Amino acid sequence: RELLSALRKYKPDQRRLRAPPMEEHYSAADLEAAMVGDQFEPFFQPKVELATGRLCGFEALARWRHPEHGVLSPHAFIDTMESRGLIDALTDVMLDKASAWCAFWRNRGLDIKVSVNISIQSLADVGLAESLIERVRRQGLDPCYMILEITETAVMIEVGRVLENLARLRMKGFELSIDDYGTGYSSMQQLTRIAAGELKIDRTFVNFASHQNDGRVILRSSLEMARKLNLTTVAEGVETPEDWALLAEYGCDQAQGYLIARPMAADTVADWAQQWDPERWLTGLSPELKQ
Ligand code: C2E
Ligand code: MG
Ligand code: MG
Ligand code: MG
Repeated sequence: RELLSALRKYKPDQRRLRAPPMEEHYSAADLEAAMVGDQFEPFFQPKVELATGRLCGFEALARWRHPEHGVLSPHAFIDTMESRGLIDALTDVMLDKASAWCAFWRNRGLDIKVSVNISIQSLADVGLAESLIERVRRQGLDPCYMILEITETAVMIEVGRVLENLARLRMKGFELSIDDYGTGYSSMQQLTRIAAGELKIDRTFVNFASHQNDGRVILRSSLEMARKLNLTTVAEGVETPEDWALLAEYGCDQAQGYLIARPMAADTVADWAQQWDPERWLTGLSPELKQ
């Protein structure tokens, strides 16, 4: 009953989800030219284990290195790419570059996995699983080190082809992750229809929990259910030591957010990983919490 009343008060921030691009609106022609000019690249944001501080992997996030406007984030281009049929090209670029970097870091002794975001649209493509596996293998990487992040809404789509593709991707060795959990309206039962290994709690959800008791009730029970379903849980948008402490207390597995690091250019990742010290990190967190 406590959970139900808490759920009634939770309003996912739909304004944020459908926010219009804040930067200039780029045309499909601009984006196509940028694609031809190889101006898209992944930035990487670390995921770390809450209990130990151990580095688990990185999420690849698309960036457009615009020759005049600098490094642009997805809200400047993703929507147009999705509506104008360019998103599959971006998926290919991201998968190629992210898996090449993953192979590079693993060869240098980093025991990490890399996650890539896949749009709902691409999930309806025939032959998607085969083409993705082919791309990752070409970079000399076993797909078991790649995690594909699928938004929660995609899982709710009843299209047979989407579920079929997800099953094939899993069969081919990719790990599947449910992204932005808490922004859609799927139930855990719906989520079990895909063989996901990971559940990512959206940052609006984490934020709600850090400010209100109702948020904590929902977060705690979501994490409990995920654990019973054997899903690895990852919290997005971890920004403060208090967020970290709360998630650790509730038994969330991993954290990702500005508290740990902002998404960074690929050629700075190895240095960042080198200086990452789990023990020093954990002891560094507690004094701030006591203040
Ligand atoms: P997402 O997959 O949920 O990625 C997390 C977003 O939260 C990223 O925004 C990341 O920079 C941001 N973030 C991480 N930590 C924090 C934090 O502590 N506080 C706050 N306020 N934000 C944080 P980004 O990079 O702008 O990406 C936005 C969305 O664009 C992604 O959300 C994902 O849905 C989409 N996206 C990014 N790259 C790709 C891609 O290659 N393909 C597709 N289809 N979608 C992509
Ligand atoms: Mg994601
Ligand atoms: Mg996410
Ligand atoms: Mg999100």
